[in-house]
Amino acid sequence: MRLGVMGGTFDPIHHGHLVAASEVQSLLDLDEVVFVPTGQPWQKSEREVAPAEHRYLMTVIATASNPRFTVSRVDIDRPGPTYTLDTLTDLRDQRPDAELFFITGADALAQIVSWKGVDKLWDLAQFIGVTRPGYELSGSGLPAERVVLKEVPAMAISSTDVRERVRYGHPVWYLVPDGVVQYIGKHSLYRPGGTDPRADI
Ligand code: ATP
Ligand code: MG
Repeated sequence: MRLGVMGGTFDPIHHGHLVAASEVQSLLDLDEVVFVPTGQPWQKSEREVAPAEHRYLMTVIATASNPRFTVSRVDIDRPGPTYTLDTLTDLRDQRPDAELFFITGADALAQIVSWKGVDKLWDLAQFIGVTRPGYELSGSGLPAERVVLKEVPAMAISSTDVRERVRYGHPVWYLVPDGVVQYIGKHSLYRPGGTDPRADI
């Protein structure tokens, strides 16, 4: 079984994530793509990240209609910061028969070399780097046989931009799935002082 792994903060999930996952699923004939929302993201500790349970539920809502998409709690249920090495190790333990394909955007790809246990990562998964508007997709410094580069439809969307838009009352329709727009509104996410403190809804 060929299993795509789409890791991310998903704060919130948007159509850039979904298009990238869908395109790679098709290009590589993956049986499934599992979305893995991070726990406490170690690279983003300088800013407040929405509670993991909200990010997880928005990811479930966004992926529910695609029979090949699933969501894993493996990172949000593990205490402490999320490292991709732990994500892939846990997924391999859970799915020993699966061949893993880790999908990552051009911006995150450039940072891989700084990740914990980078040498061990190549044994756990094939890395798929996807194009992202505004970032250069180059595998420099990464082992060419371990990173496959793929062009995906350009979606100039970021979670940062979505959060800013919500904060300033600008629309996010069509940038994120309808259910995610409604979830953000229902829980007053990304509004100053508005974040629902009940992470365990
Ligand atoms: P933030 O602005 O908070 O960093 P983000 O939009 O970059 O959010 P992440 O959750 O950080 O989203 O990204 C998860 C993964 O999805 C990363 O590998 C990232 O490169 C990739 N990705 C995010 N947005 C896009 C996009 N528009 N096109 C292609 N890949 C994307
Ligand atoms: Mg990002």
